[in-house]
Amino acid sequence: MKPVIAIHGGAGAIARDAMSSEKEREYLDALTRIVAAGQAVLAQGGSALDAVTTAVRLLEDCPLFNAGHGAVFTSAGTHELDASIMDGATLRTGAIANVNCVRNPVLAARKVMEESKHVFFVGAGAEAFAREQGLEIVDPSYFSTEARREQLLRVQRENPDAAVLDHDGQAIVARGQPAMARPTDPLDADKKFGTVGAVAVDAHGNLAAATSTGGITNKQVGRVGDAPIIGAGCYANNRTCAVSTTGTGEMYIRMVAAYDISALMEYTGATLEAAAAKVMHEKLPSIEGKGGLIAVDAQGNVTLPFNTEGMYRGCGRVGEAPAVAIYR
Ligand code: ASP
Repeated sequence: MKPVIAIHGGAGAIARDAMSSEKEREYLDALTRIVAAGQAVLAQGGSALDAVTTAVRLLEDCPLFNAGHGAVFTSAGTHELDASIMDGATLRTGAIANVNCVRNPVLAARKVMEESKHVFFVGAGAEAFAREQGLEIVDPSYFSTEARREQLLRVQRENPDAAVLDHDGQAIVARGQPAMARPTDPLDADKKFGTVGAVAVDAHGNLAAATSTGGITNKQVGRVGDAPIIGAGCYANNRTCAVSTTGTGEMYIRMVAAYDISALMEYTGATLEAAAAKVMHEKLPSIEGKGGLIAVDAQGNVTLPFNTEGMYRGCGRVGEAPAVAIYR
């Protein structure tokens, strides 16, 4: 079995207007670079835990994705970041929610897992813990990008009550607005879930998963989605699989989506692919859950299903070139 890492940068609808191949290239290059960084950790004998931490940290630093720098705005024009991590070998886990000054939320989640006796910190307590642990603290404006601010203003103008824009599949388009000067992202920025995540299996057959997000544009202050909820947006267990999700967080929480894949494998003997497909294509759609997920098992099988038009995704086994894709 060759160690392998898979990553995602959100799922969503394909942008219909003015899609630029230059912008598409930017996304594919970023995904390739980040898969390669995760592969390098695994190739040097690093753990799955270190590989997913590295990949998610880089995804957080990349403004193309809705986590860390480039995170979406709440309805109050602020940022509230969530992240989680899980070690499949020990079932140890750490998560943080609702922070707005920790540069890399995934590093804080990992510190919670390794340096605290708890598993989940939120808000001011999470930030104080991250500070105590010596993590890099930034001004909240570090997370803001012009593209995300425009997105918030567009949503508030077009449909102020919409928090999850794609819940009902309705396009929120900039009606009557001149075409944006910036080239359009391959996946419609207003109809895309931009959470990032990584899953990996290392040379010892150990699994790990990590997920990080800015949440959803125009979300109510204090709202927490699935990303930091262990079992919903992140799960890892050496006996079954490692999973990271992106999509309508409320539905993933209601379906306990990530753990459900593991449970199907454990209790019914389903393969990784069959279990993930059942959750992604049957269970989540039954409550109008939309999005995607990435998963690996201890044998190195990988599955990257989604029920939207596209998902930013990539995968790489040690010694092989990264494979990245956006559309079906
Ligand atoms: N699942 C995330 C949330 O609900 C959103 C996303 O995937 O972008 O917060």
